[in-house]
Amino acid sequence: MILPIVTFGHDILRQKAKPVAEITNEVRQLISDMLESMYAAKGVGLAAEQVGRTESVCVIDVPRDAEKEECREDNAAIPMPLVLINPEITASEGTQRNEEGCLSFPEIGAPITRADKVTVDYTDREGVRRTATARGLLSRAIQHEIDHLHGVLLVDKMSPIQKMSVAGQLKRLQKKARAE
Ligand code: ZN
Repeated sequence: MILPIVTFGHDILRQKAKPVAEITNEVRQLISDMLESMYAAKGVGLAAEQVGRTESVCVIDVPRDAEKEECREDNAAIPMPLVLINPEITASEGTQRNEEGCLSFPEIGAPITRADKVTVDYTDREGVRRTATARGLLSRAIQHEIDHLHGVLLVDKMSPIQKMSVAGQLKRLQKKARAE
């Protein structure tokens, strides 16, 4: 089922996710709905808060060919779509600066500095605890989605000047959220 995506201004986006204690049918359904919703919205990642939920779950699908050549081999071992349950970044290395967007901030994007490489511990859909190390766009997506699980949003990563340049759009989103 395609779920509506919550946009900036809604309080749920500021909530911290709660750890998933057990992978129940309800959690499996949430994952399946989140994947369907992400693909429908043509996004590369989605966190539970963005569909109005607080489970510590995010889904990611970065197309291999969207990745820079030098990152493809490093990321090849990571299954796609990547479903992260109770994820935690345990190591990060280097920096990258690239354009970043978010389904909760339609038509807003900005160059954001992130770690180039991250290692993430997570539970997969079968309940197995795993570790993955990603680079490039996939690494950026992992950092962005885990931020969501902590209530941290794209706008928090923007510089004051970047924020000023999208202030009008942010105001419109907040106004729309209040009316919903
Ligand atoms: Zn986002």
